[in-house]
Amino acid sequence: MVEDLMSDALLAEYEIRKVTGDCSLVVTETEEEFIKYLDEFDPHIVVSDYQLPSFDGLRALRLVLERKPLTPVIILTGSMNEDTAVECMKAGATDYVIKEHIKRLGTAVLNAFEQRDLRIKQKESLRLLRESEERFRSIFEDNLSVMLLIDTETGEIVDVNKAACKYFGFPRHEFRKRSLEEMSGTDEAGDKIESISSNEHARFETRLKKADGTIRNVEIFSSRIMVSGKMLVHSIVYDITEKKLAEHQVTLLGRVVENSPACIVITDPKGQIEYINPAFTSLTGYSVEEVMGLNCSVLKSGKHSVDFYKDMWTTINKGKNWHGEFLNRKKSGELYWENAIISPLIDSTGKITHFIAVKDDITEKKLLISDLIKAKEKAEENDRLKTSFLHNISHEIRTPLNAIVAFSGFLDQPGLSSGQRREYIDIIFESNRQLLSIINDILSISQIETGQILVNMGGVNIGKVLRNVHLQFKAEAEKKELGFYIFGNDFPADQLIRSDEGKLVHILSNLVSNALKFTSSGQVEIYCGKKDNYVEFRVSDTGIGIAENEQERIFDRFYQIDNAISRTYGGTGLGLSISRAYVELLGGKIKVKSEQGRGSVFTFTIPFSQ
Ligand code: ADP
Repeated sequence: MVEDLMSDALLAEYEIRKVTGDCSLVVTETEEEFIKYLDEFDPHIVVSDYQLPSFDGLRALRLVLERKPLTPVIILTGSMNEDTAVECMKAGATDYVIKEHIKRLGTAVLNAFEQRDLRIKQKESLRLLRESEERFRSIFEDNLSVMLLIDTETGEIVDVNKAACKYFGFPRHEFRKRSLEEMSGTDEAGDKIESISSNEHARFETRLKKADGTIRNVEIFSSRIMVSGKMLVHSIVYDITEKKLAEHQVTLLGRVVENSPACIVITDPKGQIEYINPAFTSLTGYSVEEVMGLNCSVLKSGKHSVDFYKDMWTTINKGKNWHGEFLNRKKSGELYWENAIISPLIDSTGKITHFIAVKDDITEKKLLISDLIKAKEKAEENDRLKTSFLHNISHEIRTPLNAIVAFSGFLDQPGLSSGQRREYIDIIFESNRQLLSIINDILSISQIETGQILVNMGGVNIGKVLRNVHLQFKAEAEKKELGFYIFGNDFPADQLIRSDEGKLVHILSNLVSNALKFTSSGQVEIYCGKKDNYVEFRVSDTGIGIAENEQERIFDRFYQIDNAISRTYGGTGLGLSISRAYVELLGGKIKVKSEQGRGSVFTFTIPFSQ
């Protein structure tokens, strides 16, 4: 209390204590002491006399406002006039009480206490409000996300944060008066912003232009907020240009892989399948569900060596590409060839995360190549055979021709005995027969090659044919002291079948002639029997036999096994190929079974038709 009169001070104290009960009170009349009390005593209320000898109420009020702005000041004055009251209230007094109405002081003090509480609360809530505003301002301003505040009525951008200035390349003031429509060049963005009803969030994608003219794909998240009593839209802008590009590339790549005609398999580093494309399914027969998670070894055919796979894994585990051909097995069990490139996928840390195999079915190509190689080898072989044939044939023709010419000349010699003449004539006949047989063979093979050979079907008496062939070679067999038999004829005498007798005789003669030629001891047998709907003939000998690897080739034209007998006896290498062509013409098959040094069995069939 600022008061110079003790009586007034006591009166006032009395009135104050009536309403406050227990309270502390200090009284001063000097400015100096008042300042001291303000700081040390720190009163909740100041009651000040208006006029004092060395001090005054207005001055006290100013000091309070300066030092303790929350502390209410009640001016207590004795000389009431309007001006004093107005002056005090204007200066910030909480109330004034005229000393004549000192009883009102109690109420005034109570009101002042309320005022004080109110002021304290207001100050606190102001502080909190300021703090929260600052916090939110900072969240907006310093946020690394691009943020905009948009006026819902005009669509204009009213504020942006630092990140927005940096991202778009405009200074803050440049954003003002711009709208999202202007920046995107479409109405769509503005429409979206307008359509956000309160409490609703919106997310949309659009394209926005930056200060440098580049256009970026953005995703915008917006929500309405109330700022200083105004409804605004708060938008967060995310640049999704790269994401979109990546998405596009992923989609594109996905389409390429899905539609690729090559098989594509992606596995983990252990070879467990994580992806296959449709081409894989159509080639192997395995569906996605069947192979997912299985090891790629499911395709193994078991035809490659352990080292083959080891080499492949070593290469790809070193981070290198592997290129090679697999013989693999389909789900159906069928084998197929594929040409594969396997590449490791390596992440930024250098770790292999996947392997990707791109494979082409080359089964047909392989077959083609193998056929081509065979054809080439065959052509080379034919060429070689023809050369050796020409060489042989000239020899084969020249030998009997020379004999004919020489012995015909000898016939003219005077004093030739009839025995010698007979011998010369026999040689000439034999040579003639040989020559004819060679020429016949050559003619036959060229007819076969040009498809001109005719089959003369008629009734054939098998027994008679066999007997004639036996008769034809009997002398030769006896000369070599070989047993020569026919056996196993299931047919009644004079059994007739429909076939070409000339060709049948030719085949049998050829086989028997070879058997006798390549046998030096033992016997030659002709067997004939019925097997299913066929007549089966077998010509077996106990001769030199034929090595396993030659058994197929002896049926090739001009092919002769290089051995002493062939060299001594000559021959054209045409007999068996003519025989095979004839057997097939007659509707049968021919094959040989032989063991070197033990003999051979040639078996052929012809249909048993009557
Ligand atoms: P050629 O007898 O005129 O040489 P072939 O076509 O009849 O021609 O026979 C081809 C080859 O097959 C013969 O040169 C011979 O090496 C072999 N060969 C054929 N028959 C026999 C057989 N019974 N025993 C051993 N080798 C044989």
